[in-house]
Amino acid sequence: MRPGELIASDGGARAGSAADVGRAWQVLGAVMDPEVPVISVVDLGIVRDLDWQEGHLHVVVTPTYSGCPATEVIEQDIQHALEQAGFRAPRLERRLDPAWTTDWITHEGRQALSAYGIAPPAHSSSKRSLLGEAPDVHCPQCGSQHTERLSEFGSTACKALYRCLDCREPFDYFKCI
Ligand SMILES: [Zn+2]
Repeated sequence: MRPGELIASDGGARAGSAADVGRAWQVLGAVMDPEVPVISVVDLGIVRDLDWQEGHLHVVVTPTYSGCPATEVIEQDIQHALEQAGFRAPRLERRLDPAWTTDWITHEGRQALSAYGIAPPAHSSSKRSLLGEAPDVHCPQCGSQHTERLSEFGSTACKALYRCLDCREPFDYFKCI
């Protein structure tokens, strides 16, 4: 056995390359969040790292909320998509530290949320939120800043329900944490 070769009986272990990791990022870029099916798990920022370890793809996932009921569904979706794409027995690691923040949502992800009618989160690190003030929430329909919060919880626990005072449309706001 030459150096770098792997034992074939180890659940399909094989040597991986940078191309494999790049392809895995592409595969996960098509795995949508089950609660917001327009944003991928990559654009949501919960796939923290991909690399190759001991002959298997290693995936680091940080859930949006440690108690978010969608977390297990998301992990199963990630596992399934990678297996479908030919990655044998990918290894998922759930990493809770550092905790996910909405700042990890990519620019593309924010645009997708807005196009879907969900106001993307204001940056949690902004001075206003540090001072405990309500964030500037813009209406995803007309862009108006004249909005009011109707409920702390929208269609899922991760969102709040708002209404636009100009166009009168209710909408979900992706809460900052
Ligand atoms: Zn509006």
